[in-house]
Amino acid sequence: MRPGELIASDRGARSGAPDDLARAWSVLGAVMDPEVPVVSVVDLGIVRGLDWQDGHLHVVVTPTYSGCPATEVIEQDIEQALEGAGFAAPKLERRLNPAWTTDWISNDGRERLRAYGIAPPAGSTSKRSLMGDSGDVCCPQCGSAHTELLSQFGSTACKALYRCIDCREPFDYFKCI
Ligand SMILES: [Zn+2]
Repeated sequence: MRPGELIASDRGARSGAPDDLARAWSVLGAVMDPEVPVVSVVDLGIVRGLDWQDGHLHVVVTPTYSGCPATEVIEQDIEQALEGAGFAAPKLERRLNPAWTTDWISNDGRERLRAYGIAPPAGSTSKRSLMGDSGDVCCPQCGSAHTELLSQFGSTACKALYRCIDCREPFDYFKCI
């Protein structure tokens, strides 16, 4: 078998068209995180790579937090969205190395988190380790940096619960890792 030939029994296999990858990226841009339905898996930086392998789309996924129960849901959502867009039997590869960091969240994603009422991760992880703490967590409602930690665990394990001392509103903070 020559490179580029497809196995006859592999249903759904086809050769990739030049615009397939761009279309697949836009399909994934509409797959939302199940816990934070305003940011997509692309905004979060979970989708690390897309290419065409053996007649199928090959998707590299790095889960956000290891053991996060949303990971399997996210992978199913990605598969279903791609299948629905005509990419038969996409191959998902879960890659744990390098580990996901909040630095991978896009600027658009950070803005959408804030608009949704979740404080996006403060600063970069490298800066945080230098400073030895999580930096300033700003209130997503009024922007005040005058906030206090109420609980390490907010509505999900991925978030911490804070309260704004100025406007008194509690809010979720997307933990920096
Ligand atoms: Zn506030």
